[in-house]
Amino acid sequence: VQPARQRLVVGNWKMHGDLDLCLETVSVLADVVVPQVALVLCPPAPYLGEIRRLAQGTQLATSAQNVAELSGGERTGEWSARMLAEIGCSYAIVGHSERRRHHLECDQLTAAKAQACLDAGITPVVCIGESRLERDNQLTEHILSRQLRHLVQIPGWRDVVVAYEPVWAIGTGTAATPDEAQAAHAFIRACLAETDPVAAGDISVLYGGSVSEHNAAALFAMPDVDGALVGRASLSPQALSRIYKAA
Ligand code: PGA
Repeated sequence: VQPARQRLVVGNWKMHGDLDLCLETVSVLADVVVPQVALVLCPPAPYLGEIRRLAQGTQLATSAQNVAELSGGERTGEWSARMLAEIGCSYAIVGHSERRRHHLECDQLTAAKAQACLDAGITPVVCIGESRLERDNQLTEHILSRQLRHLVQIPGWRDVVVAYEPVWAIGTGTAATPDEAQAAHAFIRACLAETDPVAAGDISVLYGGSVSEHNAAALFAMPDVDGALVGRASLSPQALSRIYKAA
């Protein structure tokens, strides 16, 4: 499990990419090393093994985009955290808003998936965030505190990475401003501090939603922003490299 307040940049390809992109991404990024900042590639599951193979001997880490909450069983189409750990995958995204929306995943299931990751020795990147409607109705803090309330019920929550991903910023080209991100991240830490102030200060909180090479540095300059979960821009290895260097 990662050190306290690890800075990291996670490139989430979603359901994009191919073997050529695996090769190109690893070739562009293998020699780019920013001290103290982890760079994590999150391709679709069929490419995880290939990325691991290509990235052997480099600083590049890998993440799954999803994982089951169970350690095994009759669950066609699912995979466990232990399987991810076995192939050298060190992170898994859980609770992404696209999983919540298209696969009806809830806060309890997300928390159970996070704990399954921790039990297998991999770090869950737990996504939370409000929709446009919720923000417009001043419900942002209400939504974030509800999502975090479920998270702090799992024994291992102190070792997760949290990703603040406002749903209205994902894939829209309109990122949260640095001030909006900072306010949400500070609120997230304040919520966590109600359970454990020390852990709240140590936990990494990433920002995600339309992060680009143009806005990354300003977001990373915020005191409570510890890195980024990057979607679209991560499909360009050059752009991902520039975002990583900004961290
Ligand atoms: P985006 O996606 O960077 O394309 O907005 C971010 C995410 O969904 O993780």
